[in-house]
Amino acid sequence: LRANGVMDYRADFPGIADWHYLDTAATAQKPQAVIDAIARAYGADYATVHRGVYSRSANMTLAYEAARRKVARFIGAKSDAEIVFVRGATEGINLVAQSWGGANLKAGDRILLSVLEHHSNIVPWQLIAEKTGAQIDVVPLTEDGKIDLDAMSAMITPAHKLVALAHVSNVLGSPLDVRRAAEIAHGVGAKILIDGCQAVPRLAVDVTALGCDFYVFSAHKLYGPTGIGVLWARQEILDAMPPYQGGGSMIDKVTFEKTTYAPAPTRFEAGTPHIVGVVGLAAAIDYVEAIGLDVIHAHECALVGQARDALHKLNSVRVFGPEDSCGILSFEIEGVHPHDAGTILDEEGVAIRAGHHCAQPLMRHLGVEATARASFGIYSDESDVAALVRGIERVRKIFG
Ligand code: PMP
Repeated sequence: LRANGVMDYRADFPGIADWHYLDTAATAQKPQAVIDAIARAYGADYATVHRGVYSRSANMTLAYEAARRKVARFIGAKSDAEIVFVRGATEGINLVAQSWGGANLKAGDRILLSVLEHHSNIVPWQLIAEKTGAQIDVVPLTEDGKIDLDAMSAMITPAHKLVALAHVSNVLGSPLDVRRAAEIAHGVGAKILIDGCQAVPRLAVDVTALGCDFYVFSAHKLYGPTGIGVLWARQEILDAMPPYQGGGSMIDKVTFEKTTYAPAPTRFEAGTPHIVGVVGLAAAIDYVEAIGLDVIHAHECALVGQARDALHKLNSVRVFGPEDSCGILSFEIEGVHPHDAGTILDEEGVAIRAGHHCAQPLMRHLGVEATARASFGIYSDESDVAALVRGIERVRKIFG
């Protein structure tokens, strides 16, 4: 038990011994339970899915489809048929842009993004805009770094067919009122995609209650393996979407004259899937559900609050983002390049991220080249905040 009454989960994570890992927004460390599930899936349980007539393969298929049901329940989907396994959020967004966008966007249509989007929620839309002749508009931010929904409401028109926004910013931690954003989008008949990469590990998500149309996230930020992620889409939208990639598994019948496709979600899972990744994702969901996202959220909010207060007390440190940021804090030490700060902090055993965080338009908006970013997870604690503050003091000493 920690001083704040939250259980201490550090011992569950072999990857965080002996250092201060503050780069969880890039990728989360893995609990032993997930590592063990992956080892079992590659070991005694290993076989392919969906094709085998032997029992090991049948069992793996049961595990694979049970994981789909687990994901569906975890994010409040109405049915497991709404869950598509993809490589990660990046592939999920590209899938929607190419498949849904390719079928539904045309010249004169508009796509609405925001200033704080990750490149993976910008570039796929640029690619499909180029192909279809659609154009992109950008919602500005409020003073404290949130997507400005009043501005969005004022600028959206019936020409906007698709809105794509981050649920939580990977740079500022800014949470989005998804329900309101969805109402605004639907008010003009647009669909709305939510990039849930940073939200799913930090907030309880119920896609049905949020009222969005598409939701994507990556397992590796949710304490699960890399190379696996989820695209959720409302059933009737998914059913109407053409295939994204062709290959094995996604078909109904193949002849050289004409091929017909399997129903969703199978239609979107061409080739042998990342079987072990899916099993690992299921183990990660079990892990976070046993703790509870409300507990994780409260814990990370408390740590961000502590870090924010401590950095405010240091002269010449500028902190970005809103008061209610979720688990993520960007900052700048006056006169010190974030890369230099990151290198000195590394010498102190503190791992932060320094750079543009795949959000160059946001950097331009903040008027900086890069920021330093500390991000927290369930295993983070006060000792990490203290080490960060000590490290920054050392940086300032070195740079005079
Ligand atoms: N969106 C956000 C907000 C992210 O933080 C990230 C990962 N940094 C992505 C999208 C892309 O995720 P992935 O690289 O796992 O596909």
